[in-house]
Amino acid sequence: MSNKIIIAIDGFSSCGKSTLAKALAAKLEYVFIDTGAMYRAIALYFLRNGIAFNDTAAIEKAMSNIKLNFQYNTSSQKSDMFLNNENVELLIREMTVSSKVSEVAAIAAVRDFAVAQQQAMGIAKGIVMDGRDIGTVVFPNAELKIFVTADPAIRANRRFLELQATNPNITMQEVAENLQHRDLIDSTREHSPLKQAEDALVLDNSHINREEQFEIALNWAKERIALIN
Ligand code: C5P
Repeated sequence: MSNKIIIAIDGFSSCGKSTLAKALAAKLEYVFIDTGAMYRAIALYFLRNGIAFNDTAAIEKAMSNIKLNFQYNTSSQKSDMFLNNENVELLIREMTVSSKVSEVAAIAAVRDFAVAQQQAMGIAKGIVMDGRDIGTVVFPNAELKIFVTADPAIRANRRFLELQATNPNITMQEVAENLQHRDLIDSTREHSPLKQAEDALVLDNSHINREEQFEIALNWAKERIALIN
């Protein structure tokens, strides 16, 4: 019997899901998968190749030309996203991609493509995956589901400080509007909208720090791991 579990982490944009998922994976020696990076890489491909978001034939063709994979980067100690063998980790974090990714992620063919790959990555368990539909669609039977949330103003401020490091011209308003825009599309889209799974544990990190958040989640993980051993 496997003693590893699947940990699904979902929530709104810029809640610190990836930071938490990465830390949990490192501690448990699990694989960490940032599914947002996959949608971002697909969005980058669509933007570069002028794929109209309503052109079904062009989208189908694009999906057959896209290869996504993660490669571990020893300096950042996280996996970088590769699109057709090109490291796009930095490019996919830019505003040009952030402003369009939710439209791309709402397309059914795009979701089918990404979800199939995500499910294949979880076959051996021992995985921490973060996104919007991990506990509801990708791994509805995950042993631990965490729904991360935080006050919108606090999220926007955290994201602003993070983005300012690489883009000094960015404004707080731009960042806050992007988060609102993505949250709205992500939670109202027809295909696998962002919502809390009924059996998810809610983690509101508005007024706790990273370490406190990590301790709470790690205890939950240990409880669930103990249950299957
Ligand atoms: O996690 P991150 O903010 O990088 O995700 C970028 C976008 O990708 C989200 O705003 C959402 O539109 C989409 N996404 C999704 N489903 C996931 C992960 C991300 O629709 N599982």
